[in-house]
Amino acid sequence: MTLDVLVPQRTEQLDTQEKPVNWQRPSGARSTPTEAPRWSVEAVQALLDRPFLDLLHEAQAVHRAHWPEGDIELATLLSVKTGGCPENCGYCPQSAEFDTGVQAQKLMPVDEVLRAAQAAKDAGATRFCMGAAWRAPKDRDVEKVAELVTAVKGLGLQTCATLGMLEPHHAQQLREAGLDYYNHNLDTSPDYYPEIVDTRSYQDRLDTLAHVRAAGISVCCGGIVGMGEMPVHRAGLLAELANLSPYPESVPINSLVRVPGTPLADAPPIDPLDFVRVIAVARILMPRARVRLSAGRQQLGDAVQALCFLAGANSIFYGDKLLVTGNPDVEADVRLLQSLGLKPRQTFATAAAPSTGDACCSH
Ligand code: SF4
Repeated sequence: MTLDVLVPQRTEQLDTQEKPVNWQRPSGARSTPTEAPRWSVEAVQALLDRPFLDLLHEAQAVHRAHWPEGDIELATLLSVKTGGCPENCGYCPQSAEFDTGVQAQKLMPVDEVLRAAQAAKDAGATRFCMGAAWRAPKDRDVEKVAELVTAVKGLGLQTCATLGMLEPHHAQQLREAGLDYYNHNLDTSPDYYPEIVDTRSYQDRLDTLAHVRAAGISVCCGGIVGMGEMPVHRAGLLAELANLSPYPESVPINSLVRVPGTPLADAPPIDPLDFVRVIAVARILMPRARVRLSAGRQQLGDAVQALCFLAGANSIFYGDKLLVTGNPDVEADVRLLQSLGLKPRQTFATAAAPSTGDACCSH
């Protein structure tokens, strides 16, 4: 059976990265791109609804057609500026609106960040992501982060930053400093977004992503599942990501970590197999993207993580802490990857990775 037979109602062939779409939509409104999106929400929903084993089979076939066998990327995330954020993302313990016990901290100095980056590299990470809990960095913040980027890049690591909303000149400045990736997640579907955060709009997210692209920085953009959303909202998120043109180079998929004190602390947990479905559909829709298992790995356990790798995940956040939330410890990751025959892009040692500090992982 060919892949074309298996994929229902798609509006174009797989892996069409080359046609730019000029996304423009009024703030808060549904998408009105100037070109028809490649994937409709209905088509994505049909994929999510496929029999589980068929879906996994197809996702694995797409994965093998686009990636070397056993390849996996290890990325490490460090919170370089923690807490006190004026936004109100319902999942995030770093919002100043929620009483979560997170202590606000200023931007870390260069030497501390460099020590953490070197330790991450020594432990096998190839990408180092720096997160700062700002709504949008000011000029002086971007200057300081640009220094961090240049210093980390000098260690031979790929650099990534997640700093909130960016102006075009900030994106340019970071690119000139050597930034390889910028993380800015869409979080969920446009219509569910106002349930999660109301201090900014979906269009704000898309605008920053456009500025990042225009500056020549690769895009890391994904979302979170398990926030009380319906399956159609997961389909909406995946369609939005896949219809970005080009689609993101990295797609982090987070399973909500329910942090006490946040509005989503009591959200019903997602069925683990539904989480695997999201990974599989992300792989099918975005064959060349690094699909990253991000927050929430700890709750998934080894067996579900193995299913996620089978479904096409090929990147993990690596280290003992993901901003404010726990992450499987390094030795457990090493054991799991080895037992599954997954080979990190660089030789990795079993030295402990650094703590990644406190913050959320979906800035
Ligand atoms: S996710 Fe980012 S923008 Fe939202 S509250 Fe947390 S730190 Fe602020």
